[in-house]
Amino acid sequence: MNPFIEKSQDDIKKYLIESADHCVKCGLCLQECPTYKTENIESESPRGRIALISAIASGKISSSNKVERRLENCLCCRSCEAACPAQVKYGTMIDLYRNIAKSTINRSITRNFIEKFSILALTEKTWLLKPVRLFISLYQRSGIRKIELWKKILKTTTLHRFEKYLPEKKCSGTAIADNKTTNIKSVWLFTGCMGELIDINTVNSATKILQKLGYNVKIPHGQSCCGAISIHNGAIKPTVETAINNLKQFANDDSPILFIATGCGTILQEYKNLLRESENEENAKIFSDRAIEITSFLSKEEFPDGFFTSKKKLTIAVHEPCSHRNSIGSPETQYELLKKSGCVKTVPLNSNNICCGAAGTYMITNPEISKKLLQIKIDDICDIMPDVVSSTNIGCILHMNSGLQENSIPKITVKHPLEILNNYL
Ligand code: SF4
Ligand code: SF4
Ligand code: SF4
Repeated sequence: MNPFIEKSQDDIKKYLIESADHCVKCGLCLQECPTYKTENIESESPRGRIALISAIASGKISSSNKVERRLENCLCCRSCEAACPAQVKYGTMIDLYRNIAKSTINRSITRNFIEKFSILALTEKTWLLKPVRLFISLYQRSGIRKIELWKKILKTTTLHRFEKYLPEKKCSGTAIADNKTTNIKSVWLFTGCMGELIDINTVNSATKILQKLGYNVKIPHGQSCCGAISIHNGAIKPTVETAINNLKQFANDDSPILFIATGCGTILQEYKNLLRESENEENAKIFSDRAIEITSFLSKEEFPDGFFTSKKKLTIAVHEPCSHRNSIGSPETQYELLKKSGCVKTVPLNSNNICCGAAGTYMITNPEISKKLLQIKIDDICDIMPDVVSSTNIGCILHMNSGLQENSIPKITVKHPLEILNNYL
């Protein structure tokens, strides 16, 4: 059965109990789990969480705020799933658990706000995003962020947890997507709900590189959030609705849908499972099969001689987001694409097997564990001392940049590989 489509709470509980029964308790996932590494207790491990979910779903124990906290501490990074010999579908289990848990447990104010906002602005009332985007854009340009008094005031509120992730508004030249031209080769760009606001340099770099390769690049303006934030906060129905909207937005032709953030791509490639056994099953399958991570797409392209004009030598530390490693797969394409420039040295981060702590809204809702994981990345970056760090997910990029700033290492920045390559054009 597809537990995401109009199933009762009892159906979901049954699914959770059956899924948990597949766990043979071997413990192979424990060393792959970031929260087990930092907290070192069973209830912060995948095996412990599966046991808790099963016990709650079967009514053997009732949940409490303490138990709920353990389950909320999960980053949904799915490292455990990749390591599991019994193929326990942990990622699906935790999303579904959060759907049934939200009706019974007192959640933190921040988490409740994130959940309500994601449902409202990202999925149901998308018009709300317009004033939010406008406000953020004006704020980024206003200069108020540099005023010391403002920084001090912000620190006394929880707003600083959001604010520190807003990048400086620097745009490296605007590439205009050519929605109307008729080149033979065409691609769509999935920019997500915030890509054009907080990751405009990557959107522009992607557009320029693709156009230089002869592609007609299309960005549908009616596209909505992928649904990652809402589903990881337990809101299934709005996630299904946003998925159906995206199916319509990209339905005009069958050219590839390239996503520039692996966090978004994970859920786009999951639409076929999310909408299984529904009237949209066939369209969702076609959509998910068309959704391709952009470095994977470009690494297979022939770049003609002279495509890259700069000969600047760079050492690039490469961060592999868990959404790339554990869900989308083939993280090596990031290295392959960077090497197309002909003059870079790529060095993987030592800690590429664990999450950086960004994990969607986790960096805001669970700052303590998030900070511990971030520090591991910052220490790794300092061991390499690269010219720049590359990462294929905007959430990780913002999170690691904030860590570099806080550790007073502002000379090294984290960028998407396409933004790095754009400097070689
Ligand atoms: S690796 Fe899989 S089967 Fe083994 S304890 Fe972890 S979830 Fe259970
Ligand atoms: S998804 Fe990640 S954080 Fe959650 S239990 Fe699995 S490995 Fe641990
Ligand atoms: S992953 Fe995040 S940024 Fe990308 S579309 Fe989904 S919610 Fe928006």
